[in-house]
Amino acid sequence: MPRTRPRAVAERRQSRQIQVGSVPVGGDAPISVQSMTTTLTSDVNATLQQIAELTASGCQIVRVAVPSQDDADALPAIARKSQIPVIADIHFQPRYVFAAIEAGCAAVRVNPGNIKKFDDQVKEIARAAKDHGTPIRIGVNAGSLDKRLLQKHGKATPEALVESALWEASLFEEHDFRDIKISVKHNDPVVMIEAYRQLAAQCDYPLHLGVTEAGPAFQGTIKSAVAFGALLSDGVGDTIRVSLSAPPVEEVKVGTQILESLGLRERGLEVVSCPSCGRAQVDVYKLADEVTAALEGFPVPLRVAVMGCVVNGPGEAREADLGVASGNGKGQIFVKGQVVKTVPESQIVETLIEEAMRIAEELGID
Ligand code: SF4
Repeated sequence: MPRTRPRAVAERRQSRQIQVGSVPVGGDAPISVQSMTTTLTSDVNATLQQIAELTASGCQIVRVAVPSQDDADALPAIARKSQIPVIADIHFQPRYVFAAIEAGCAAVRVNPGNIKKFDDQVKEIARAAKDHGTPIRIGVNAGSLDKRLLQKHGKATPEALVESALWEASLFEEHDFRDIKISVKHNDPVVMIEAYRQLAAQCDYPLHLGVTEAGPAFQGTIKSAVAFGALLSDGVGDTIRVSLSAPPVEEVKVGTQILESLGLRERGLEVVSCPSCGRAQVDVYKLADEVTAALEGFPVPLRVAVMGCVVNGPGEAREADLGVASGNGKGQIFVKGQVVKTVPESQIVETLIEEAMRIAEELGID
């Protein structure tokens, strides 16, 4: 159901566009949500199962770690059977990079600085990646910053992260390879935001946003939302990954919600629930959870208001497609701010679902 909303974000930074499998990244492509599997990559079935769960939750690009030969051997099957593009994450072993490219991975995350010591390997990787049309993500992390830059800058400052990223990119540029996206992650959102701002001003590569080691779900969600919000509202960022010490599906839900909150992606279900107060005549928290669970994945974008009392309910939720205001053991069900019926409290959730289905039917959506 289209809604007119003011634009919250500045004009998008002009970045070059790369193609990660079927998903364009950068340029005017929609900002994509990524996550990373937590299974052993060598366990093909478990990894594909987790990728399927991530896909169902809205993940658009998935990264798998490749720390061993067994993991590299699993890549052809995973790349072939995954429903979404697979990025192989490789740190030090050039031979796994070649294996990932040969396996048909949609991209490889590797820092050429780590493999520079292997003679001509960077040149060969650039050639193989170019031949296969495989982009490379250069991923600079505060925790694994080059010793030379740590000494120069004293610690992982924004300047150090950016210098590292541009130096890594230059190692590929020397071989005329620019099919690159870059991340400069730090666990401190303030440092991370500044690093991305500087990097955005100094290159036109698409940027992959991430706060690294953001922490458990609550803390990591806040850190990522604040950092991504600041950057995306400035038009900076082409793909995002929320890192949480939590199941990866949660990362995708948070990432999607961040994009929806900024109006960078059409909202799915939006539950507008009141915080409750002394006037509440129902358990608002429980009702909001039940309504959210009942309507999750509903095929029509819906804004549903859950209000604890009838005093402010319909008025506060006039903008909602659908809503309930509770009082005296009953729920006033309203559509577009108009009360359409009053039902006992026990029937609130099922009535909202019925009304949601009616809205879908009117729109011709099954
Ligand atoms: Fe309080 Fe009613 Fe407002 Fe909820 S809708 S916060 S219960 S006044």
